[in-house]
Amino acid sequence: MRKKIVAGNWKMNLSLTEGLELGAAIAGFVKNNPLDNLNGQPDVIMFTPSVYLVPVTEKVAGTPKLSTGAQNCHTELKGAYTGETSVKMIQSAGVINVLVGHSERRSYFGETNEVLAKKVEIALANGVTPMYCCGEVLDERNAGNHFDVVKEQIETGLFWLSEEEFAKTIIAYEPVWAIGTGVTASPEQAQEMHAYIRKLISEKYNPTVAENYTILYGGSCNAKNAAELFANKDVDGGLIGGASLQAEDFCKIIQSF
Ligand code: PEP
Repeated sequence: MRKKIVAGNWKMNLSLTEGLELGAAIAGFVKNNPLDNLNGQPDVIMFTPSVYLVPVTEKVAGTPKLSTGAQNCHTELKGAYTGETSVKMIQSAGVINVLVGHSERRSYFGETNEVLAKKVEIALANGVTPMYCCGEVLDERNAGNHFDVVKEQIETGLFWLSEEEFAKTIIAYEPVWAIGTGVTASPEQAQEMHAYIRKLISEKYNPTVAENYTILYGGSCNAKNAAELFANKDVDGGLIGGASLQAEDFCKIIQSF
């Protein structure tokens, strides 16, 4: 069965004390409230600021189905790149996930699909799972180009991988116009794009890979709208920004399947 995931992207928010409290609250919830509905409990990932990765990872260690992730990594493993974090460092800190290509990295830091393909490669080569973000800006959707934009992002970023390597990745579809805006994609819009992405995967690899592949939705997903988004057959969970900063809201989202 396809893995369900709810992931929180803390971005550049919270003090260390607040981050540790949030991590502990989420770990407590995940331990004490196992869901026994049809789909089972989703995996939960917390993408913390890099400086909090070690203490938060230590704090939640041993919690089943809960892991941490970095919000970015460099394309190289080491060297004279002041201020950067390599995937080797991330992995050596016991962290098993990394976000690649969040729209804020693409727009503020000029990360191209080609650069992101290198990050995917180096993450996989070092045993870290890349969660690859894709999604169109509003003008692209209004012009009817959203399918082509997402196709290009996925083809360049991921479709050069072998079937075995590709199956280790996760896609988060995040329409940029929905990120941090309070405007969510409708369940129909989310399902339409997720089904399209799954079709691309099926055509590139095969129907089995596509069927087993996890595709998350992100963009103003919150405790109120998560259930109707996750109810769509091709939406396997969410990448949550703002609503991942409050334990109560985030835990409601975890229960939204
Ligand atoms: C995000 O940053 O990945 C995100 C989805 O943010 P928000 O939930 O705040 O829209």
